[in-house]
Amino acid sequence: MSETKSKVAVITGGGSGLGQSVAIKLAESGINISIVDISEKAGQETITLLKPYGINAIFIQADVSRAEDVKTYVDRTVEHFGTIDMFFNNAGISGPGTLFAENTIEQINQVVGINLLGGLYGIKYVLEVMLKQGGGSIVNTSSTAGLVGQATVGSYSATKHGVIGITRTIAVEYADKGIHINAIAPGTTETPMVRQYRLDNPETFQTVENAIPQRRLGQPEEIADLVAFLLSDRARYINGAVIPIDGGFTAQ
Ligand code: NAD
Repeated sequence: MSETKSKVAVITGGGSGLGQSVAIKLAESGINISIVDISEKAGQETITLLKPYGINAIFIQADVSRAEDVKTYVDRTVEHFGTIDMFFNNAGISGPGTLFAENTIEQINQVVGINLLGGLYGIKYVLEVMLKQGGGSIVNTSSTAGLVGQATVGSYSATKHGVIGITRTIAVEYADKGIHINAIAPGTTETPMVRQYRLDNPETFQTVENAIPQRRLGQPEEIADLVAFLLSDRARYINGAVIPIDGGFTAQ
């Protein structure tokens, strides 16, 4: 049906939330998909949800904070599909939701390891494949916390600012190699991660919700529409952009 009929996408954190919604959105366009997640149960759930679309989808269990796991998911995707055309570099965790001085070193390392190092490893290994084949598209998941300061998400915010830094750098370094890379900066979106955060931090969460001009959370399907567009050839002249999708939160 579309230009993207036989393309291949890798989605990290594909077992839940934004990753799962993007998987379904891409499957609607006939794109084959490699689902990467640390949780076998979550990853397999997405594979089951993709069945009705008749695409070729595989699950690869990996912890994105481990460089060897990242190399493995890239290698296994190429072994299976022969290529990687699209990369949704998305796996992430929210962190403890406390003032920064109250973080333990382990909590800081965990958030940085998954959200920032995991993203960097993914870009490095996927880029090697895309450079060999002469192009591809990447979308990195940043956050409104990558654009503005918000209390209690210090490490998370640092990683999401970092994601924007690597997005802009790669956009400049590889623009003439057929690669376009962008970042999305979602506001609070109704995924399992946020539902858990709401349970753990009810007061903080209420403040966040009240600060959204549209007075509602984003829906994963809304984010998926944007990501699918940015990954497609229709967005090939959009490069190095950071696109807020936040009900107006960062416009204030
Ligand atoms: P989610 O918890 O629903 O999904 C995240 C997925 O990542 C899960 O399936 C989880 O198992 C997987 N994962 C966690 N650690 C991993 C690891 N080390 N290796 C591989 N997989 C791992 O969360 P979500 O809301 O869909 O978040 C996805 C991304 O969007 C994250 O980077 C998050 O920071 C970002 N984000 C979310 C929101 C929001 O409000 N939901 C807003 C802005 C940005």
